[in-house]
Amino acid sequence: MVTYLAGESAGQCGPCVFGLAAIAGEFERLARTGDADLARLRRWIDQVDGRGACAHPDGVARFARSALGVFATEVDRHLDGQCSGTHDEPVLPLTPAEGR
Ligand code: SF4
Repeated sequence: MVTYLAGESAGQCGPCVFGLAAIAGEFERLARTGDADLARLRRWIDQVDGRGACAHPDGVARFARSALGVFATEVDRHLDGQCSGTHDEPVLPLTPAEGR
């Protein structure tokens, strides 16, 4: 999602041209290899917030902060080189629908 959002900018302002691509790359490293620097990622997110000509970087920053918070347990797993997702289980486990 962060990579998608980074690609949706018109590429006219520094936070989008440099910041969002870097943030997306760090999320990709975190998701795929766990070889990410969480403190640097959080610093980059703070640095783009409120710096664009429009609010696109602000929205991406809020989305990214929210993802790091909501998925904090999974983020920690990835930083330890693990992942709860397997081919046998959905990556985002869903609770069974009630009444079925
Ligand atoms: S901050 Fe807004 S106007 Fe500037 S490049 Fe990003 S999306 Fe475009």
